[in-house]
Amino acid sequence: MRVAMIGTGYVGLVSGVCFSDFGHDVVCVDKAQAKIEMLRRGDMPIYEPGLESLAARNVAAGRLSFSTDLAAALDGADAVFIAVGTPTRRGDGHADLSYVYAAAEEVGRAMTAPGVVVIKSTVPVGTNREVLRILRRVRPELVIDVASNPEFLREGAAIEDFMRPDRVVVGAATERARDVLRALYRPLSLRDAPIHFTSLESAELIKYAANAMLATRITFINEIADLCEHVGADVQDVAHGVGLDRRIGPKFLHPGPGYGGSCFPKDTLALARTGQSANSPLRIVETVIAVNDARKRRMVEKISGALDDRLAGRRIAVFGVTFKPDTDDMREAPSLVVVPALIGAGAAVTICDPHGRKEGEALLPGAAWREDPYEAAAAADAIVLLTEWNMFRGLDLARLRSVMSGDALVDLRNIYRPAEAAAAGFAYTSIGRPAAAPA
Ligand code: NAD
Repeated sequence: MRVAMIGTGYVGLVSGVCFSDFGHDVVCVDKAQAKIEMLRRGDMPIYEPGLESLAARNVAAGRLSFSTDLAAALDGADAVFIAVGTPTRRGDGHADLSYVYAAAEEVGRAMTAPGVVVIKSTVPVGTNREVLRILRRVRPELVIDVASNPEFLREGAAIEDFMRPDRVVVGAATERARDVLRALYRPLSLRDAPIHFTSLESAELIKYAANAMLATRITFINEIADLCEHVGADVQDVAHGVGLDRRIGPKFLHPGPGYGGSCFPKDTLALARTGQSANSPLRIVETVIAVNDARKRRMVEKISGALDDRLAGRRIAVFGVTFKPDTDDMREAPSLVVVPALIGAGAAVTICDPHGRKEGEALLPGAAWREDPYEAAAAADAIVLLTEWNMFRGLDLARLRSVMSGDALVDLRNIYRPAEAAAAGFAYTSIGRPAAAPA
């Protein structure tokens, strides 16, 4: 089948590359000329493990290409995906749909034959019907169907998630749209991934409800971690014991500095706004948002506490600034709250992150960057671990301690063992765990 993928960001690029690997002919389109030029050279504009080689393989097979020419990409396309951004709208927290609507209008004008337009972007209830109205207004003479196909991939594991999803959700109002999506995802049905067909509205809401549920679990275990600190329990033991209950399961019960990223913050906010607009407030989601926002700020107090409440003039090494490991995505990362606050309080911050610098340097002005964690920690009073990249898990803690001036290790992802950190000479602070006695 022939696919046009409009928007070549984290979702559009991964989806386009994976569809081409299924054997479909895919043209990935973006307005950003520089991105398309990079892709044509074989370079990836984002860091996503495995993406570069998978793209190269399918380009070489003649199934995948990149273009800024929308009209040419639409020629003969069986499905046109819209995978553009839906960030938070300035001022009111609703999803900003201007990119989706602009893309729909451009697609409508450029289409030459009947077809199916598929919204892959995360969009609030009612958006797919509005896209249908736009297409009918722009091209009243063409039969154009709309389908909602929200994406559930996780950055850092995006290819695996796309190739082996728990489910594919398709909202569609016509049999033709269902047939096209069924054919596109057929390689997955052979691997037993169910396609869940619903109405347009239900598909739109499934995506938001899923993200809100995951954000709620994270926020819940973060509050339990806080309680652990007050009552002497260990949140790792508590989360494990809770997760062994098969009704609950172990996923998304890892305490940390608060969720960030390109999806949870904006999607929980947009869902809360949808609830308010529909006169059906989502009080749990509203609380999750407030608790998570406050948590990121409170992490600064935790770090300050580990430095005797004196940040001015202190040297702090920050390990990891992307919102999670295995991505270069900095959107809404806890580091964007924590690092400026530390610098604002007079601390000198040196960052080590294997893929964060390209995006992060402009977003975190005033910080120094080092590629090597031991160099970043040299003469530091404290190390703050914000993102649990694998490269930080196996560090030689005794060596790390020996290059520092101070002894504070603030582990906001609980990747080290308290006893191990204490044995290396650290004054170790983590989340929701009792401190080990100093060695
Ligand atoms: P992104 O910002 O990385 O990419 C969007 C791309 O669309 C950009 O390259 C931009 O230049 C391009 N674009 C915008 N308007 C265009 C137009 N009219 N024509 C051509 N290109 C256009 O965004 P993303 O992270 O890939 O997210 C896209 C959507 O997918 C969002 O709705 C997001 O919520 C959703 N989503 C994201 C993830 C994730 O992990 N990033 C996961 C699931 C769903």
